[in-house]
Amino acid sequence: MSARRIMLMRALAIGVLATACQGGSDVPDSRVPRATPPPTAYIGTLAVASAPSVTPDAVDAAYEMTRTASMDLAELPRVSAAAAAATPRAVRVAGARARMVDRGPATEPRVALTFDAGADRGYAEQILDTLRDAGVRASFGMTGQWAEANPELVRRMVAEGHHFINHTYSHDSFTGFSTGRGPKSSEARARELAMTEQAIQRIAGVSTKPYFRPPYGDIDASVIEDVQAQGYDIVAMWTVDSQGWNGLSRAGIEARCLRAAAPGAVYIFHVGSAAQDGPALPAVIDGLRKQGYQMGTLDWLLHP
Ligand SMILES: [Zn+2]
Repeated sequence: MSARRIMLMRALAIGVLATACQGGSDVPDSRVPRATPPPTAYIGTLAVASAPSVTPDAVDAAYEMTRTASMDLAELPRVSAAAAAATPRAVRVAGARARMVDRGPATEPRVALTFDAGADRGYAEQILDTLRDAGVRASFGMTGQWAEANPELVRRMVAEGHHFINHTYSHDSFTGFSTGRGPKSSEARARELAMTEQAIQRIAGVSTKPYFRPPYGDIDASVIEDVQAQGYDIVAMWTVDSQGWNGLSRAGIEARCLRAAAPGAVYIFHVGSAAQDGPALPAVIDGLRKQGYQMGTLDWLLHP
């Protein structure tokens, strides 16, 4: 069975779980754009009991999104009502400084554009051209392997003012939820983060800290503690998933992203050739501008 076929089967299986979890109100495979961003309720854990073992390279971002759509906040460590009210856009783990962030302040018409780079080079250059021509800076969720494979693009990103999020070195799941291989040790997690940080420092002289984006969106309290211990205080989740990874057409991505626009939204796209996010980007940027939105990096959205 081909890796892609396994991937599709897994995505379907996860989709069934997610539908059950959510009463079918927001099927991960939905091609219908959301009218409003989802609530801050997609952070947590969902074990996939019968996940077949596949290599990280054999999967793509599909799992990240299906998993994320199916998560249940109730499984996260509890925060007090007062703490939650004080930080409505972030979830804090007791005793840790790290935050899971899926959006910025809703007080201004600003959104963040983020692009994950963990598979092929795909549309990366086209995306950078679009961003340059539009005068927009963005955040890139970068694996160390991608950075090492595309050093000149990493340097270009820095030269053009973009921002990095540590997306691990090998894109392996830290919890094992999506890969069925069990959780990585704290030491292995630290190594993944450090290898990426060192690669990007070596290539472009900048740091990924304090931003971490979990492969597959796989996250639990131990991951938050472990990444925080390595200097990654912000676990960068998202508000609006373009669904490009899921085969949505260029026109579909445009419509979805524009309909879901909201102050403080964090968009997630992928640079890889499996998604039409790159080709859709010019129209997404134009449309957001017409709606009055400023666009920038996640760092800028959180610290304007
Ligand atoms: Zn990824």
